[in-house]
Amino acid sequence: MRDKTKCLHSGYSPKNGEPRVIPIYQSTTYVYDSTDEVGQVFDDPTKSLIYSRFENPTVMAVEEKIADLEGGVAAMCTSSGQAASMFSIMNLCHAGDSFISTSQIYGGTVNLFAVTLKKLGIECIFVDADADEQTISAAFKSNTKAVFGETLANPALTVLDIEKFAKIAHAHGVPLIIDNTFATPIFCKPFEFGADIVVHSTSKYMDGHAVQVGGVIVDSGRFDWTNGNFPEFTEPDESYHGISYTETYGKAAYIVKARMQLMRDFGAYPSGNSGFLLNLGLETLAIRMKAYCENALKVAQFFKSCDMIDEVRYPGLESDKYYDLAQKYLKGCSGVISIVIKGGKKNAVKFMDGLKLASNEVHVADIRTCVLHPASATHRQLTDEQLVAAGINPGLIRFSVGLEDVDDIIDDIKQSLNNL
Ligand SMILES: *Cc1c(COP(=O)(O)O)cnc(C)c1O
Repeated sequence: MRDKTKCLHSGYSPKNGEPRVIPIYQSTTYVYDSTDEVGQVFDDPTKSLIYSRFENPTVMAVEEKIADLEGGVAAMCTSSGQAASMFSIMNLCHAGDSFISTSQIYGGTVNLFAVTLKKLGIECIFVDADADEQTISAAFKSNTKAVFGETLANPALTVLDIEKFAKIAHAHGVPLIIDNTFATPIFCKPFEFGADIVVHSTSKYMDGHAVQVGGVIVDSGRFDWTNGNFPEFTEPDESYHGISYTETYGKAAYIVKARMQLMRDFGAYPSGNSGFLLNLGLETLAIRMKAYCENALKVAQFFKSCDMIDEVRYPGLESDKYYDLAQKYLKGCSGVISIVIKGGKKNAVKFMDGLKLASNEVHVADIRTCVLHPASATHRQLTDEQLVAAGINPGLIRFSVGLEDVDDIIDDIKQSLNNL
């Protein structure tokens, strides 16, 4: 099946007389006829359902759909994108280990990696995504267990050279994890370029309607966990009846381990109702992504033509620094554009407050056009000098183009710019 068809049909095929749409299984638990059968369920937890802290039939249908869209063998949903990023690392690293991440990633992930994981004894080594292979290789330590990067970075809109990072990670015997949130599997399938694990914040385009915070981890099934660097995958897990994940679950070892250790112990699992809502968003993902992209290109071109705009960042523009990488890795560049307005913070705020259609909110990749001014919101504690040092121009605005008529979006921008 092609992506548009997968969006509608993967993960759930009703049999004779069953509901057309995946039902919402809103139940904490599952019933068995005897104590003996309950006992047997624990012997192989992947065969039957135990408890909704880590599995639910509605959510599992969605997991199968997302795994299919990414071309992976298995997936596990989480209750936020942050939980997905955290588990993707914690499934590989424990206290005393390190991993490498590019600096051009979502701000919330920077905090998770640099502050919270550090408190757990896991070190994140940051590298510039555009650095050469030698520089990146030199950052590895003997305890480095993974490499992490974002396909299309939020909010920097840099495009990752996935093949370069896959090659370096594999040369060091560790997997490459890609946050594919902005591209979605419709515009990029990182496994085709050598990535091993993919994570998403499904709160963005996948849900698409700003109704549901969520995340997902997808396993390509291709990484060789028996290479000697990951004994927790190969040796018996005493907390799970002495199971060896690679021996018992083969290609699905990573996801089964994440579910049976991390999800079992931390319980950041979505409810059946959450899975149902995410599935509704996914059904239209392929057609929405194309539409976001068409609108965004027109808006980006309009911004380019405005005297009041100093800089427009959108990798779908030929003038963009990442245009060539975008051509190689992306079938579209999403709906998100970064602009720098003349007159710094003062004009940025005035422009945003003057918008009537676009909403001012801490969200991105919604079906409705929305804007965020990092200098007033996520980075408001910084002075103008500190903002520049952090790579954020005080006039920078993240403009997330929605699915309204593009002429209405442009009219709204025009009227607000005219007031400056
Ligand atoms: C929003 C976002 C996250 C965090 O996801 P939540 O669902 O908000 O927890 C992670 N990565 C990227 C690229 C994001 O845009």
